[in-house]
Amino acid sequence: MIHHTLGDTGLRVSILGFGASPLGNEFGSIDAAEGARAVRCAIERGINYFDVSPYYGRTLAESRLGEALRDHRHEVILATKCGRYGKELPDGFDFSAQRIARSVEESLARLRTDYIDVLQAHDIEFEHRERIIGETLPAMRALKQAGKVRFVGITGYALHLLRDVAETADVDTVLSYCRYDLLDTSLDDVLAPTARRKGFGLINASPLHMRLLSDTGAPEWHPAPKSVVAAAEAAARYCRERGADIADLALRFALGHGNVTTTLVGMSKAGHVERNVAAVGQAPGPDLLAGVLRILAPVANVAWQEGLPENYEPGAVPKGS
Ligand code: NAD
Repeated sequence: MIHHTLGDTGLRVSILGFGASPLGNEFGSIDAAEGARAVRCAIERGINYFDVSPYYGRTLAESRLGEALRDHRHEVILATKCGRYGKELPDGFDFSAQRIARSVEESLARLRTDYIDVLQAHDIEFEHRERIIGETLPAMRALKQAGKVRFVGITGYALHLLRDVAETADVDTVLSYCRYDLLDTSLDDVLAPTARRKGFGLINASPLHMRLLSDTGAPEWHPAPKSVVAAAEAAARYCRERGADIADLALRFALGHGNVTTTLVGMSKAGHVERNVAAVGQAPGPDLLAGVLRILAPVANVAWQEGLPENYEPGAVPKGS
């Protein structure tokens, strides 16, 4: 495994990180014992960065991860989130200072620990930017002062908002998802230059575009427009016909980003952990990559609308359109 320093935090993290949302059944029901095996296998293979949220499986993923890490807490860097709890506005989100403090206490109990390494405001495009900057982040920094969390960050889909907030407020990390992979490389232009200048740790989540770039294909809730889903299916077929696996290609591609410190893949099976670890340090085959990028070119960097309308990405199209 390769490890790098996460921005100015000093934390040494594996370039392949463990995304724990599948432990909360977000991609369909999983075998909990197999999920725990995947966690142990990841640690054995040198993965030390684990990302979860109270939102995943509405607390189930945190509980399962806490159980699986019972004897391994001090071997890992544990990142969780606050502010997002349910699917819909307005009840699914609460970025108030009061809720953030309570949320962390609840996460600590589920994760069976007394500190969180990285606490992130979850999907900030669902809140007004002024509240994130004026209330949520100060509440998170107070928890840092109190020793309950070591570093604070923000996450979301809307890159321009993430950049704006990271320029205005002090954050240790920024996580975006589906924005640096075979389908979309906007992270590189919009956020990476700010990360280099300001020194925050850059985290790239969902390198398989939330399973779109795999033989299984998109879950039924996937927000990507239909043209993107169709192009990804054609690209997966192209790989299969050449005896290759698009998930492997996608991961090799994403892991090649020089400014991203850790790339988070969602995993709940030891077999996926083994395959994904095998992609570390491997460059994509140039001919296969060129063929796939040709197929995906007509839908490159197509973004969908996420969160409050005031926070939509410039040029974004309606979800599932
Ligand atoms: P992903 O692109 O990592 O895809 C995960 C899916 O692909 C799962 O169904 C998994 O079983 C499957 N998979 C994994 N390895 C595979 C392989 N080798 N072959 C075939 N299928 C494979 O999407 P994700 O899980 O949404 O993103 C990764 C992690 O990033 C999440 O689990 C979460 O921790 C984090 N994340 C955070 C945010 C946020 O904070 N807003 C958003 C998205 C993701």
